[in-house]
Amino acid sequence: MEPEKELIIKLDKNKSNTGYRNFPMVPRVVFGNGCFDQLGEILLPKRKSSEAPIIFLIDDVFEDTSLIQRIPLLFNDQIVFISADEEPKTEQVDALVAKIKHEFQEPPSGIVGIGGGTLLDLAKAVSILLTNNGCAATYQGWDLVSKPSIYHVGIPTISGTGAEVSRTTVLLGPDKKLGINSDFTPFDQVLLDPDLTLGVPKQQWFYTGMDCYIHCIESLNGTYLNAFSQSYGEKALELCKEVFLGDLCPEESRDKLMMASWHGGMSIAYSQVGVAHAMSYGLSYVLGTKHGLGNCLVFQHLQEFYPEGVDMFHRMMQYHDIVLPTGICRDLSESEMNTMISVSLGMVPLWENALGKDWKTKITPDKLKHIFNKI
Ligand code: NAD
Ligand code: ZN
Repeated sequence: MEPEKELIIKLDKNKSNTGYRNFPMVPRVVFGNGCFDQLGEILLPKRKSSEAPIIFLIDDVFEDTSLIQRIPLLFNDQIVFISADEEPKTEQVDALVAKIKHEFQEPPSGIVGIGGGTLLDLAKAVSILLTNNGCAATYQGWDLVSKPSIYHVGIPTISGTGAEVSRTTVLLGPDKKLGINSDFTPFDQVLLDPDLTLGVPKQQWFYTGMDCYIHCIESLNGTYLNAFSQSYGEKALELCKEVFLGDLCPEESRDKLMMASWHGGMSIAYSQVGVAHAMSYGLSYVLGTKHGLGNCLVFQHLQEFYPEGVDMFHRMMQYHDIVLPTGICRDLSESEMNTMISVSLGMVPLWENALGKDWKTKITPDKLKHIFNKI
């Protein structure tokens, strides 16, 4: 097939009856070590009145650290510390929104999320639910949000998920784990300060960093690939190789991983993730396994689908002395295993991206069970 023709066919995956998808992007971003101290200046023009606070949702790992003294609090602003031990839930979003509505007469001027993907997703969801009625679970899906969200700012403190740039906020709901994908989800402002990632423990650095690496592999090897996604995916992959297989100094490594996360997120915006993400959703739904670790646990066994990518992943693990936990699925009941398989198989666009339109002929429940049993 001629290359041009191939590209047009692939791009059609992003085309609906009304034309190509028109993606919103983060309109403002500031990057650089120490840029966190510009936050006060950035927020000032967004303050509506002394009664309309800025609410800072902060990973509780920063409680009692010097970062808290640097939060530019004014008037009745509030800090809410939140644990990232578990992935965000729709009911948690509802509770936060109820609390904010109860405590303040006026709607907040803004929501600022400071932390990893967990806190970034919570900040996005809370800002949506403050202006859209009902509970968070109602909006899990695609384009169900009708009103613009409250001004919201994302400040990542660990790199890899791409949540800082994405159009989704992934939430665990009463009956599904699914994002609120909408034009009102992306942040209005992102602040990328690589110094904020200084205290990340090594294992977690690897797991969340591998989320980015796996985004690249799944996007670049998917059938939805197009020049837009490829350009970002290739850059992100190049940065991941430098960070995880090179010998960069720590500062350069932090800078580059933060930008890899951004590019990886941009790459999947106009394509999709694949097999590891589909299966990791199943793991997370049944066992609560966190996204980064779940992706690694699955990806290590996906040679059949991503031979080169999995090979490089093992080299990265070796290079950093990473040992993944084992026996995760050992004690699963049959019904839990079946749920895991059906949640995974429910991620249709991911399978279609990974294996093509006829994906159902290539993957079966038994095959998934076989892979899960290795984990
Ligand atoms: P996380 O937010 O779950 O945090 C992981 C751990 O790192 C936590 O213990 C946290 O306290 C700690 N941590 C974070 N920053 C730290 C720092 N500077 N110093 C010390 N410890 C620090 O991690 P994550 O991997 O970034 O996010 C995972 C979440 O992101 C999942 O809920 C997943 O569903 C979501 N996600 C969202 C998107 C999206 O596009 N919206 C994409 C991928 C993943
Ligand atoms: Zn991911």
